Amino acid sequence: MRRSRPFWVLISGDRGYCELENLIRNRTFMRFKVTRPPLPDHLTLTSGDTNVQIRLRRDNRAQRYLLRIPADQSGPVLTVPKSGDASRAERFARQHIDWLLSRLSQKPDQTPFQDGSVIPFRGADHLIVATGGLRGLVSVSSEGDRARILVPGAPEHLARKLTSFLKEEARKDLTQACTFHAEKVGRKVAGISIRDTTSRWGSCAANGRLSFSWRLILAPPDILDYVAAHEVAHLREMNHSDRFWKICRELAPQTPEARKWLKEKGATLHAYG
Ligand SMILES: [Zn+2]
Repeated sequence: MRRSRPFWVLISGDRGYCELENLIRNRTFMRFKVTRPPLPDHLTLTSGDTNVQIRLRRDNRAQRYLLRIPADQSGPVLTVPKSGDASRAERFARQHIDWLLSRLSQKPDQTPFQDGSVIPFRGADHLIVATGGLRGLVSVSSEGDRARILVPGAPEHLARKLTSFLKEEARKDLTQACTFHAEKVGRKVAGISIRDTTSRWGSCAANGRLSFSWRLILAPPDILDYVAAHEVAHLREMNHSDRFWKICRELAPQTPEARKWLKEKGATLHAYG
């Protein structure tokens, strides 16, 4: 058992220290309002000669500190719970600095959209070839020993042209998959938007519009199909309840594998372009 110690309270004014016991005996109750200093935007940790900047984000619903590295490569984020403060956040980050550094060093290098780069397209490696042709559309060729994406036009326009081609292909595949799944659940898709979302692969608005990341076209078709099925399932269940997952699995039996794939490899899809 812990030995009880005298408990001292500092009271302003000339009374100086006053024993808490006396306060209680005199039925004098005090309330302390703890004012938290505002949380800084970020903190910087140094390990060896490496500086790591960590964004701090207060989340009043969070129960504990949480360190994560978002897939969009915007850098580590530390979630601070309601009762948390900057110094405890820093202590928490220090405890996990080795994990953080090893994860950051694993970050895949960016593969630019340029002649000679190899990028996944519907899950299969494709070589980007600048054809140099002045006219024409981006096309895919599977002739020869290597699949290629042929991009005409000036080199400085290659990245933009290839990105719009991939967005269009993503729109086609996602529209087809969503229409197919929506018919099965007896719902109509109000519309599909293709975006470069960094935090989510897809989302479903209350008005029935679905949004997706164009980067899903880089992933194997089963993954794109799962994300389409997931958002369509939200047209029936606007939550992640057991009922929702049942519908999702009925539409896309590959749901467990696809979720695992996105968790493990999803971040790599952001490493292109
Ligand atoms: Zn969902």
